[in-house]
Amino acid sequence: MPHEAVELLSRYLQIDTTNPPGNEQKGVEFFAAIFEKEGVDYKVYEAAPGRQSIRAVIPGTGERPALILLNHIDVVTANAAEWQEDPFSGKIKDGLIYGRGALDMKGHGILELLAFLEVKRKGWVPCRDLVFLAVADEEDGGKNGAAWLLEHHFQDFQAGLILNEGGFGLDDMLPDRPLFLIAAGEKGVCRVRLTRTGPPGHGSTPHGNNALEKLVQGLNRLLEKDNPFIVTALIGDYFKQLGAVWEFLKPYLDDGKPETLIRVLQDNGMAAIPQLAAMLKNTVSVNCLHAGDKVNVIPDEAVAELDIRLLPGTDPDAFVAEIKAQLADDEIQVELMEKHAATESPVDTEDFAILKEAHLKHFPDALVVATLLYGASDSRFFRDRGMACYGICPMLIGTRDLDRVHGVDERISTENMIQGTRAFIDIVRMLCRV
Ligand SMILES: [Zn+2]
Repeated sequence: MPHEAVELLSRYLQIDTTNPPGNEQKGVEFFAAIFEKEGVDYKVYEAAPGRQSIRAVIPGTGERPALILLNHIDVVTANAAEWQEDPFSGKIKDGLIYGRGALDMKGHGILELLAFLEVKRKGWVPCRDLVFLAVADEEDGGKNGAAWLLEHHFQDFQAGLILNEGGFGLDDMLPDRPLFLIAAGEKGVCRVRLTRTGPPGHGSTPHGNNALEKLVQGLNRLLEKDNPFIVTALIGDYFKQLGAVWEFLKPYLDDGKPETLIRVLQDNGMAAIPQLAAMLKNTVSVNCLHAGDKVNVIPDEAVAELDIRLLPGTDPDAFVAEIKAQLADDEIQVELMEKHAATESPVDTEDFAILKEAHLKHFPDALVVATLLYGASDSRFFRDRGMACYGICPMLIGTRDLDRVHGVDERISTENMIQGTRAFIDIVRMLCRV
C-alpha cells in the first residue's frame, strides 16, 4: 500500500485540469469527496461553468488571524508525444510519480491537504482558522480563480497568513547543504501594446513613413537602453545570507554597499544569469510583433506587445512613461493592457520566523532565505489586499527538475511526497500552535 500522499497525488494527477479550459470542477469533486469522508465543511465557488474553486475550514480559537493553505488546481498543457509516461497517468515508477502538475502544483496541494487533514483527524483546535483553498485558473492569470474569489467573496478569504507556491527547496545550489528559498515577494507584471499606424502603399515605392519600419526603429531605441541594476532590500538581504556560503560575496558582506554587490556579481559572471539578473533589474521583453500580410504592400499598422516585469519600488506608470520617452516617436500609441506593481510581505514577523524554524527542524543543515519571485503567482492578489503571503516548498528538488515545471516528464519522488508531508504537517502545527 503506497503512502497516502503518494496514492492521493497519483489519483489527483489523473484528473486532466489543463488550462484552458481548466475543468477545475473535476479537481474540486476530488477534494469534496475527501472532505465528505473526513467530515469537513467545505464550500464550492464557480466563477464560470466548470471553473470551480473549493474552500474547507477547520475553525480555530481566533487568537490569531486565519491561515490559508493555497494551491491551484489547473495545470498547463502537456504534449503527451514528448513524455515518457502519459502526463495524466499518475504513473508511479522507480520511486517517481509522473504527471502534469506533479511539481506545479498538485504535489504541493496534496501536502497542504494532508497537513490540513492531520489537524482534523487529531481533533486539534488551532489558534487560528485553518483554511484549505484550491483555486482555478492560476495559469491563466486568475480571472476565474483567485482574483475572482477575492473580488466576489472577499469576506471568505480574510487571513493573516497565506502559504502558496513560489518557494523552492534545492539540493544542488550550494556545495554541501540544501537551500530553501521562501518567496516573500514577487515582481510586478505589466503588459503593454504598442501600435504605430502610417499610410499604406506599394512596396515598390517606399514613402518613408512605413508603420512597421517606424515601430521597429522605436523598438530598437527602447532595447538599446540597458535597465540599471537595482538592489532592493529583500534581494540585498538575500545575498547577505548567501554570503555565508558563497565566498566571492565577502566584499559585499564587508561593506554592505549595493554597488559592491553588483560588482562582485558581475566579476563572477553571476549578473549574466537571466534568473539572477531578473531579481536585480526591471525587464522588458518584446514578445509579439504583428504587421503586414503581403510582401509587396506597405502595412498601415504595426503592433508589438511587451512583457514588463518590475521590481518592488518601481512605479508601473512611471516606468511606462520612460518607455514612451525611449521609443521617441509620438505616433507610437502606448497602451497599458495590464498593470500590477510588485508585491512584498514582511520578513520580520513571528509567522515568518516560525516558517524558517519549521524548515530547519526538518532540514537542520539547510540555509533558509527569503527571496523575490521573478515570475507571478496568485500571492499577488492576496498581498494587494494586505495579507502576508509566502511561497514555500518543503521538499528538496534539484535545479535540473525546474525545467520539468511546464516542461516534459514533470515528476516528483515518492520520498519527497512522504518527507514533504511530514514537514508540511509540522509547519501547520507550529503556525497553529497545536
Ligand atoms: Zn503554479
